[in-house]
Amino acid sequence: MGEGKHNAPILAGVVGWPVAHSLSPLIHGTWAKRAGVKGYYIPIPVAPDYNDFAVAMDALKTLGFAGVNVTIPHKEHALRYASTASDAARKAGAANMLTFGAQTFADNSDIIGFAEAVRATSSVPRASALVLGAGGAARGVVLALQRLGLTDIVVANRTRAKSEELAKAFGLSVADWEDRSKVLENIDFLVNTTSLGMTGQPPLEIDLTGLKSAALVADIVYAPLETHLLKTAKTRGHETVDGLAMLMHQAVPGFKTWFGGEAVIDDALRAVLVEELNKRSGA
Ligand code: NAP
Repeated sequence: MGEGKHNAPILAGVVGWPVAHSLSPLIHGTWAKRAGVKGYYIPIPVAPDYNDFAVAMDALKTLGFAGVNVTIPHKEHALRYASTASDAARKAGAANMLTFGAQTFADNSDIIGFAEAVRATSSVPRASALVLGAGGAARGVVLALQRLGLTDIVVANRTRAKSEELAKAFGLSVADWEDRSKVLENIDFLVNTTSLGMTGQPPLEIDLTGLKSAALVADIVYAPLETHLLKTAKTRGHETVDGLAMLMHQAVPGFKTWFGGEAVIDDALRAVLVEELNKRSGA
């Protein structure tokens, strides 16, 4: 690749509502600059309704966009809109990538994003996990954990019906939300996929006392970058994976597909994103 039709710049973006806060343009922009690619990756706000989404996707195709990332609330719409989809997207019931061509292809790179973020941090084999939350992101995280070989996954969610639904779909067990601190002693890997702990949201209350010291702790929330959960886990000596690691890794397949070239995750990229997050939080 390198350049689009008729030597025009390659166009891609991220579609969501709201989407102005997305760090994806900064990630793709940094890689494009490094690779010397002539292209633009822009935030594209599209109202929550499926019809608005479909009209916007038709328009982007007509304008010659190579593809888009898709975020809340359109990940299920993306799968519905596409004419073909990867197994990962079908299994997750949601897509965060649409690639336009003769057919529109839906994929889900949140799964590989989380799996790669974990692999980059720790190579210790782990068998059991407690997943907090049963929303959209939890599905991708559970599929990633299964891909990483974890066989004993417990899910705890405030709304129990949603954890039961997730457990049924993916062969997990369920713990009561109120028991989240009590079930930690048999756990190798704790993952927060709720929005608790995010700036503007209530804190995630959990007592890590019972967690084995070798257990890994991940939080997919990335604003703030060091959530209270991660801070406490680090103080207790646990290895940790933050939300920015997942965010950077999920961006790789889109960049490679649409812009071509290398998409390297390194300290320099992380520093660019951390600087932006600090700017936003006034730090
Ligand atoms: P979602 O579908 O809206 O799910 C939100 C989850 O948080 C649900 O399980 C919900 O429980 C729980 N929750 C919300 N408020 C709660 C409260 N007061 N007490 C207990 N549980 C509460 O959202 P999502 O798409 O899964 O995203 C969740 C978080 O992950 C967001 O912060 C998002 O930014 C982050 N995320 C990060 C990445 C990344 O690349 N790092 C990727 C995707 C998402 P109920 O079911 O009971 O409502």
